[in-house]
Amino acid sequence: MRIALFGPPGAGKGTQAKILNEHFGLDTISTGNLIRTAIREGSDLGDRVKSFVHMGNLVPDELVRDLANESIAKHKFDRFILDGYPRTVTQAHWVQEFLAAYKAPLDAVISLSLPDSVIVDRLSKRRIHKLTCESYHLEYHPPPADVDPTMIIRRKDDAPEAVRSRIETYREQTHPVEEFFRREGILIEVSGVGSVQDIGNRVLKQVEQFAELAIA
Ligand code: AMP
Repeated sequence: MRIALFGPPGAGKGTQAKILNEHFGLDTISTGNLIRTAIREGSDLGDRVKSFVHMGNLVPDELVRDLANESIAKHKFDRFILDGYPRTVTQAHWVQEFLAAYKAPLDAVISLSLPDSVIVDRLSKRRIHKLTCESYHLEYHPPPADVDPTMIIRRKDDAPEAVRSRIETYREQTHPVEEFFRREGILIEVSGVGSVQDIGNRVLKQVEQFAELAIA
């Protein structure tokens, strides 16, 4: 099974990927996490992409494609969830071509939709673990007491200025990807409003339907 999770920043793609991992054993390929790891490790790629990420802009398509393709190949073209990739129509074309060449097309693109006010609230209260990239929300899912508080940080691109820029970028460059996959006939729209559990149930219901079809 191969799925892509799509939606604006703060839609809960990473959280839903985790739920899908628990239910179906699918691994998450998050280009955001791959990029943050490259920045933290100070690799060549990390140095090249740092300023784009911190300002809330998208990283150039070619660089993200190489990271994503490498990770998809490592997963042997199956049993993965793409989280945050593709994010431009160019990337969407590339991933479709890449997967088609290996006879491993995406089964579904799950699009989580939510209003801007919810996005801003979620991102302003989001914190992550520096090393594991585990995501928390100060109110709804605070970091557990046994986690070293010095490891809990706010992502630079979750600062208000960067959030505004990311929402803008999403509207201009990423939202058209939804239409691309609608035309491909694999888009599934799910409301991203509500509790993690509620959204998770909606996503699981959708995935279960086509998981059954795949087996039948
Ligand atoms: P995320 O953790 O998915 O919110 O990604 C964090 C940041 O990494 C984004 O704001 C972009 O700067 C960069 N990034 C992640 N995925 C992509 C992508 N598919 N295309 C371009 N930039 C990306």
